[in-house]
Amino acid sequence: MAHIVILGAGYAGLGTARKLAKIAPADTKIDLIDRNTKHVESIELYQVAAGSADADKISFDIRGVLPNNVNFIQANVSKIDYENKTVEFSDHDDMTYDYVVVGLGFRSENFGMEGADQYSYKLQDIPTAEKIYEVINSNIRNYKQSQDPNDLNIVVCGAGFTGIELLGELIDTAKILKAKYDVPEINITSVEMAPQILPMFDSELAKYAVDFLSKNGIKIMTSAKIKKIEPNAVVYTKGDSEEEQRIYANSIIWTVGVSGSDVIKDSGFEARRNRITVTDYLNVEDHPELYVIGDDSASMDPQSNRPLPTTGQLALAQAEVAAENIVADLKKQPQKKFVYKSKGTIASLGPSHGIAEITKPHLKLKGSMAALAKRFSFEQVLYEVGGIKGLQKK
Ligand code: NAD
Repeated sequence: MAHIVILGAGYAGLGTARKLAKIAPADTKIDLIDRNTKHVESIELYQVAAGSADADKISFDIRGVLPNNVNFIQANVSKIDYENKTVEFSDHDDMTYDYVVVGLGFRSENFGMEGADQYSYKLQDIPTAEKIYEVINSNIRNYKQSQDPNDLNIVVCGAGFTGIELLGELIDTAKILKAKYDVPEINITSVEMAPQILPMFDSELAKYAVDFLSKNGIKIMTSAKIKKIEPNAVVYTKGDSEEEQRIYANSIIWTVGVSGSDVIKDSGFEARRNRITVTDYLNVEDHPELYVIGDDSASMDPQSNRPLPTTGQLALAQAEVAAENIVADLKKQPQKKFVYKSKGTIASLGPSHGIAEITKPHLKLKGSMAALAKRFSFEQVLYEVGGIKGLQKK
């Protein structure tokens, strides 16, 4: 009897578990492991950070959506001893495996930036998302008493996907909190080192996003490289100038990039930012029983010769192929190469706006049509990770 151990119940792990449940031989033992009992829709974390959704709205009980032939174990993975095919835990006995699927997700990356951990708030999971809203809310509430203008200033560091979606969602948050606490204008600034934001989108769509955010009072600073974070200031340089400038705020949010799980580093894998380069079959060279997918894997894009950018959509596509390849190996059948066909890219700009580039049919959407597309794609993702029960959790 083969024992398959899946580490992490995010998009990658839950997707693999559900697929294996359908296609694995009946005598396969499938264990899914996560330190939490809930699956989190991490692509929606920005809503919790902006206070527009409760944690419950973007998470559901893992056991509630698992088929009967998948066993869930709540445990905290500390290391993968891949030479001895054993997983080690901080709170559970070691576990041996015949196949392991690593899908332990991402963490916020600070790139060694001075002050980032101490003076800014990262967005990486439910507790950090809740903390961000708590900080923003309490600073704005505090203004009447403190009269400190920095209480009304919010800075979002980094304007990648996470930063942009958070900024879009903060437009409504600022209006609600301004009225609630009867305070002057709330100032939201984005600090981004690249010369333009959303370079992965068609330039017309990217321009629409910039215009939309600017029209709604968000100040977007590009070519602004963050140098350090101080207790109530972001220190940056602009363009080629080396002169340090400061933007003051009591709510500083850090969305400057992510790394894979630290379990990768702690297990001694060769990796870059905790992402392991995988073969075309999604396993690791010399360790064919070890599959790595989602944010912990670097799956090469043959066109750009660079790792594919990590997304929930990519993790789900990898999960499908990893499950199929494990079963093919068990049955001594040929395995399938992973070829990624993106369905498109969507960035929300608050609850009812966004930009989207859909692959088939090729469509460029903006405004409410893009928000609708995002809604639809979110429901699809929920169905893929949770089936009908996942959808019903909403
Ligand atoms: P990211 O790496 O995509 O973006 C970080 C941004 O911070 C970049 O624009 C970068 O130029 C900027 N930055 C880095 N160092 C800086 C500095 N010193 N000063 C100023 N700016 C700096 O990270 P993310 O936005 O957290 O996203 C993480 C991953 O998750 C990405 O792969 C992203 O594609 C994915 N994601 C996708 C979606 C979606 O598809 N809708 C949503 C959220 C996240």
